[in-house]
Amino acid sequence: MSARKGALPYAGASDVGLVRSGNEDFYVVNPPLYAVADGLGGHQAGEVASQIAIETLLGNSPARADAKALGRAVRAANAAVIEGAQLGLGRSGMGTTLTAAMVEGTRIAVAHVGDSRAYLLHLGELTQLTADHSMVADMVRAGTLSEAESRVHPNRSVITRALGSDPNMLVDAFELEAAPGDRLLLCSDGLTSMVEDAAIEEILQTAPSPNAAVVRLIAAANDAGGQDNITTVVVDIEGSSPVTAPRPVPAQRVEHAVPRERTRRWPARVAWVLVASAIVAGAWYATYSYAQAQAYLIARDGVVAVYRGVPGSFAGVSLNWLESVTDIPVDELDPVTAARLRNGVRVDGLAPAFSLVATYRLQTEHSSESTTTP
Ligand code: MG
Repeated sequence: MSARKGALPYAGASDVGLVRSGNEDFYVVNPPLYAVADGLGGHQAGEVASQIAIETLLGNSPARADAKALGRAVRAANAAVIEGAQLGLGRSGMGTTLTAAMVEGTRIAVAHVGDSRAYLLHLGELTQLTADHSMVADMVRAGTLSEAESRVHPNRSVITRALGSDPNMLVDAFELEAAPGDRLLLCSDGLTSMVEDAAIEEILQTAPSPNAAVVRLIAAANDAGGQDNITTVVVDIEGSSPVTAPRPVPAQRVEHAVPRERTRRWPARVAWVLVASAIVAGAWYATYSYAQAQAYLIARDGVVAVYRGVPGSFAGVSLNWLESVTDIPVDELDPVTAARLRNGVRVDGLAPAFSLVATYRLQTEHSSESTTTP
């Protein structure tokens, strides 16, 4: 179903539910990137993990609906959650699910870990795109539990894969071709443990806009008991407009092969020295090219600064260049973000760096109303 005229083709919302005291879910609606994370580990942990995951995803998201690249961004989010716990943010053992989608026209890339889900409504029919990484899903797949039993099983919230513990965590990542008029849903298990797929399908079929859909989905979960935090993101697939996010231009590769004609006439030792220097120069240029395409944000004199490159130096040469000093005071950001900025937040290029700056600015300008929640 296409959006009502004037309504945005995407919407997201999160609700604490009726039982929990805090909301550990986090989401982002930053077209063409959409994601839902459901934090694990309890108060002062789950919400930290889900926030770090979403922010890192945002800073590393690819410009196109490329499943491999989106998978790499989810792995970067995993590394950031692990690093966050080592830095003393949240609690050790904290974790989070992460289900992310990049939408480029009708092409959708999905990367997923945990039991938050992605669904697609196509021609009125709902299909679950992701397979839960959970104990009950394994049992359903093995045929020892029915779908209905899994919904009330005492271990239904035990997940078998999450961000925050295994540095070699596997990510499910894939691409699919949707059709104009399709509707994409990302949601936490606070929706799917409360509301059956048939009811979700009916709401997605009949809601006049993505915004109406997220409101009705959350209401349905609360009507059914609201046992958990509920997060929903709905995106209407519109057409074939390509994504045109700016990307840094990679530095030119420089070839450093030693010309064969000349080396053959030189003494062997000289030739070998030249070959060795070429290898070192090649490695240096590869590192330099890599650094040129990277970026990071860091606290500098109390405000957020953006650097191209990577922190530190390589063979005594620093590979970072100050790009911009913002007027965003680090102390006005939430404590988790501020702590990470003091160490430096690495991202995959200047474009994601500046989109992260925009979210920081929103956080300081409207602390109660931003593109991410809660
Ligand atoms: Mg949950």
